[in-house]
Amino acid sequence: MNQPISPVPGQPEDEATQQRLANLDAENQTLQARLAFLLEQVERNHDIMCRHQAFDLEIVSASTFPELIGTIFRTLPVISDLDGVTLSLLDEEDDILLVMEKLGVDFSIFPQLQFVHEPAELGFAPPAPVLEGEPALPPLPLLGVFDTALHGKRFPGADVPLRSVALVPLLRNKRLIGSLNLASSDAARFTPALGTDFIKHMASIIAICLENVISNEMLKYIGLTDSLTGVYNRRYIDRRLLEEIARARRQNYFISCMYIDIDHFKLVNDTHGHQGGDEVLREVATRIRHELRRSDALGRFGGEEFVVLLIDADLDSASFVAERIRASIADTMFDLPGNTQTWVSVSIGVASLDGESILQPMETVSQQLVANADLALYQAKANGRNQVVSWQAPIS
Ligand code: GH3
Ligand code: MG
Ligand code: MG
Repeated sequence: MNQPISPVPGQPEDEATQQRLANLDAENQTLQARLAFLLEQVERNHDIMCRHQAFDLEIVSASTFPELIGTIFRTLPVISDLDGVTLSLLDEEDDILLVMEKLGVDFSIFPQLQFVHEPAELGFAPPAPVLEGEPALPPLPLLGVFDTALHGKRFPGADVPLRSVALVPLLRNKRLIGSLNLASSDAARFTPALGTDFIKHMASIIAICLENVISNEMLKYIGLTDSLTGVYNRRYIDRRLLEEIARARRQNYFISCMYIDIDHFKLVNDTHGHQGGDEVLREVATRIRHELRRSDALGRFGGEEFVVLLIDADLDSASFVAERIRASIADTMFDLPGNTQTWVSVSIGVASLDGESILQPMETVSQQLVANADLALYQAKANGRNQVVSWQAPIS
């Protein structure tokens, strides 16, 4: 195929023919080189398309928020040959942040994720004024030179000097939910002249996936929390207790449980109304939470009863924390609606897992731990309330 074109045998070769043949030969070689280049490009594009299809499938199947953003930050820089991929999410009321934190998401491992409070912080030009009755146009991607003052904060800890960026709006039903930020060390990678269909398509899939997992996580959160106080509900605590018992058995540490009940709460309701009672419940939850570590779990078990799981705490240290909680509630009056105040106290029962529990089924151990804390609480009530009682195994 690469053979030079030869003159027809037996025909005279004048100079013009020679020249024509040489030209044809050169043209042939140029065309072949071009064809080879195009084939290579087709193969490369096919390869990129396959990798992006695999990426789309992976993000569509992510079921949790950390799984989704973890996949985006890990995979997108590799398949798209980028030196920076970050996300800025619009979270006007801090709802997403709060729910994810409640569900145990550790944001410190995702420095590429940022939350902003205002759409303007995302940096897209506001949609041009529209004629009455016409829908507002969604913002367009911004492509161009990397400017540290403008873009530096969006790409913390980049390994190489960044030279060009693409800020792509994440839109759901034309509503701006965030921005996908892409950066490259190649100045020619993102220029204003570049077509944006591909990155817009990628951003639209990412936006759908983000909205789905955020909605799922919100539903999960609602199913596991108590709407009045914002602490966990009984379902969560029961489940978490089983997980913690399994972990404590593997890693050999203590778990303790507190059963907390507000004293004479009926009287609070009778004196200050149901609303006053609700305010007391909220404030009690807040004061308990202030005395706990991040690893501990607080749940409302219904009515005016709260349960706390203390991870890696033996009976003595759990009783110490319980005493701090008791004092923080009893020592300062509660403010109530209508400029009134009231004293509130709680009784607390504390119990810990003992060494023998290791031999029993987890469900039995879990129920026994809460039941023991409840027995100790009963004792605290019987002893006169506003006190902490630690459960002691009966001497057999
Ligand atoms: P004790 O010191 O023995 O615990 O007495 P108590 O009055 O706290 O206990 P009791 O079980 O007699 O009363 C609990 C009250 O809690 C009765 C119920 O109306 C009230 N309660 C239950 N859930 C809620 C709620 O969500 N909001 C309000 N405001 N009150 C509630
Ligand atoms: Mg009660
Ligand atoms: Mg009570």
